[in-house]
Amino acid sequence: MGIPFFNLARQHEPLQAELAERGARVLASGQYVLGPEVAQLEKELAAYCDCRYAVGMSSGTDGLLVAMMALGIGPGDEVLCPAFTFFGTAGSVARLGAKPVWVDVMEDTYNIDLRDAEAKVSEQSKAILPVHLFGQSADMECVTGFARAHGLAVVEDAAQAIGAEYGERKVGSFGDFGVLSFYPTKNLGGFGDGGMLLCNEEALAEKAIRLRNHGMHPKYVHQEVGGNFRLDSLQAALLRVKLPYLDGYHAARRRHAVAYQQALEGVAGLVRPVVRSSARSVWNQYTVRIPGGVRDAVREKLGEAGIGTEIYYPVALPDQPCFAGVGRGGESTEVSRRLAAEVLSLPCFPELTEAERSEVIAAVKRVLEETGQG
Ligand SMILES: *Cc1c(COP(=O)(O)O)cnc(C)c1O
Repeated sequence: MGIPFFNLARQHEPLQAELAERGARVLASGQYVLGPEVAQLEKELAAYCDCRYAVGMSSGTDGLLVAMMALGIGPGDEVLCPAFTFFGTAGSVARLGAKPVWVDVMEDTYNIDLRDAEAKVSEQSKAILPVHLFGQSADMECVTGFARAHGLAVVEDAAQAIGAEYGERKVGSFGDFGVLSFYPTKNLGGFGDGGMLLCNEEALAEKAIRLRNHGMHPKYVHQEVGGNFRLDSLQAALLRVKLPYLDGYHAARRRHAVAYQQALEGVAGLVRPVVRSSARSVWNQYTVRIPGGVRDAVREKLGEAGIGTEIYYPVALPDQPCFAGVGRGGESTEVSRRLAAEVLSLPCFPELTEAERSEVIAAVKRVLEETGQG
């Protein structure tokens, strides 16, 4: 009994032999940093994501950092950033000495609200950082139109959305850069940390390639200061084993999401997520809202019933202690603050069984009734 929120062991069990074989080959090769496995993964992911270039990174967070370094963002610059996202999105802005300007999100899709961005953009704004939160594309037509109108660069945080589509195209292919993460809980989950930068412009791709290796070009000549943001060969080799299965993982997540959407329709005390017709989500998370100040109580009762859930994210970014006095200050981000108090993510990993999913649904309905919301 007990339904885990997430379980990667189930995903890797049937791949054991293949993973061991490919991993052993890398161990025997003597090449452990970058190398042919990383180059191959870059090629395969560029093709998968409809992009011309892909550049392996040590993590998604480092990918965001390198993207903004390549765009020349630094002290005095502002970057428009959603107030409701994973910390790393904005942390990379602050690390460069730039100011995150907090833009509110929409309460139905949880993605950046372009009307609010319009109200907050300034002369100092250099870039906008849309996040495809929980696997659903931000409204990229609006984002790119807005960016063009204000002369902003676009860095897409696609850490949770590899393979998600907006219209006919994969996310990460719209901006100056797109950023992927292979953190184990992402849709293409690796065996440790890793990430990838996506990009369509040769000069930017080359800059990112230099920056990930201490800005070195040619050997032992450094025109600029970069860092060590390189991806391991072993990580790339193991990710390449999983990549052919990725569309199958997405399909399984979609089946869960569709089932949740149907089963939870009209359930009092709960608001389902909305997916726009222009977007095709890969459902990194299935996240509902539990309004009325009872989210934590509902989560606790689900926990007592053995149902794993998570809160992504319990604190809006402007309320993080490290960001006090860092941003422009005083932006209103009401929706983000409310979401932080209302969101609850249910188990949606590919290997969740139908029986488990039904049990989650039944438990959610029962707990909401008990909590007096139903
Ligand atoms: C996971 C994640 C990141 C960071 O990726 P890491 O590989 O963990 O550094 C950035 N943004 C979002 C939205 C994420 O979910």
